[in-house]
Amino acid sequence: MTPEEFRKAGHELIDWIADYRQKIPGLPVRAQVQPGEVRTALPPQPPAKIEEFGALLTDLDRIIVPGITQVQHPMHYGWFPSNASLASVLGDIASSGLGTLGISWESCPALTEVEEVVCDWLRQLTGLSDRWKGTIHDTASTACVTAMILARERASGMSKNGSGLQGAAAPLIVYSTGQAHSSIAKAVQLAGFGNDNLRFIEEDPYTRAMLPGALALAIEQDLAAGNIPAGIVCSVGATATTAMDPVDAIAAVASRHGIWLHVDAAMAGSAMLLPECRHLWRGVEQADSLAWNPHKWMGTILDTALFYVRDVDHLERVMSTNPTYLHSSADGQVTQYRDWGIPLGRRFRALKLWFHLRLDGIDAIQARLRRDLDNAQWLKAQVESSENWEVLAPVALQTVCIRHVPLDDAGLPLCGDALDRHTLAWLGRINASGAAFMSASVLDGRWMVRVSIGVEDTTAAHVARLWELIQASASTN
Ligand SMILES: *Cc1c(COP(=O)(O)O)cnc(C)c1O
Repeated sequence: MTPEEFRKAGHELIDWIADYRQKIPGLPVRAQVQPGEVRTALPPQPPAKIEEFGALLTDLDRIIVPGITQVQHPMHYGWFPSNASLASVLGDIASSGLGTLGISWESCPALTEVEEVVCDWLRQLTGLSDRWKGTIHDTASTACVTAMILARERASGMSKNGSGLQGAAAPLIVYSTGQAHSSIAKAVQLAGFGNDNLRFIEEDPYTRAMLPGALALAIEQDLAAGNIPAGIVCSVGATATTAMDPVDAIAAVASRHGIWLHVDAAMAGSAMLLPECRHLWRGVEQADSLAWNPHKWMGTILDTALFYVRDVDHLERVMSTNPTYLHSSADGQVTQYRDWGIPLGRRFRALKLWFHLRLDGIDAIQARLRRDLDNAQWLKAQVESSENWEVLAPVALQTVCIRHVPLDDAGLPLCGDALDRHTLAWLGRINASGAAFMSASVLDGRWMVRVSIGVEDTTAAHVARLWELIQASASTN
């Protein structure tokens, strides 16, 4: 494709994207396709002849759009807000169009230095001190694997330079809670600790926050048994109910024993753009590493996960390689992001944040986050004041966990498996209709529905409409 052909097709594509975004409110929220339907709509063999650009646009409409669960839909309340602001989409397109190669500072000085600057802007915007240095990963999952490797290497005295964990005299232990995101257990497994060495610390039965006293006790027990406490993963906004582990009390325990403390704020980090929410991670300055996803609620398109550390020297000791073919005269004066994480080649992801912050602006982002917090409190109030409805967890941010408990034929509150069937049935009717989408999750052994508010286009009127849909569906037998 020549630049002139690209210009023509590119204009058409931008028009197509703008039209698509405007059409979203009229589309079903959940993809209505059956398993395999998209695949069978595609030719099994690769194309033998080149095609017109128009044929691709037709297939985007015909095959791809029906195969998308519309997470940009204002009635999407599933999982978490996965906003993709159009300003950041432009940054993503710019990043692709530039065709840069990020393998060293020299291979694209701008890639490195814009990343340094935007990570520092986000540091300031979330109220972190300048002791933190950041980089952009694809996801919080990768950031957590990186953090667990840093924990492992600190606790093992840089075992990677010798026989690795196979030479360890005693098991290295990581602590978290049962509320932590599944990526935490995965990171602990992949970093070589093994699942047996991951301890789920007791939580407060209502807030689901880690109990620091129970953490301290578990650490004492491990020390007495000759084990080596190596890492703690603290959730600021755990997945099911947005539980907030008390970072300050946990950090005090961690520092007493020199244990690496990673703060997983993948979802809730966006809230720290609001000064009034920062008490939720009080003590974060004492942590060792921290990750959050602008690609969730804040709305910079995937994949934009921020990873901050305080001890860059340790990060570089663990992650650096220095092959001769990457040597350059700038070494020692510049940041080499390949020494800050797992991949060598990196995309120019910082442009997404750069465009987002410059074109949408922090004021508008903050106003939207505050709108969502208000909408969540409104919904919580409706649910709490309605008969047979329960709010199951504190509404710390924008997620409201609810359950409908109607009376059975004998006039007693529905319970057990019958209650689960009822919950999944009323939710299933709404999701299947395409009118709105929410996800379910198990809390204390029973299904509940999570209403995760925060799509860019979701207004108070949409949340009110959702509450009507929920009540209507739950009262259908
Ligand atoms: C979404 C989420 C993750 C995983 O994020 P990815 O960027 O998709 O890997 C981890 N932890 C929490 C609390 C999350 O909300």
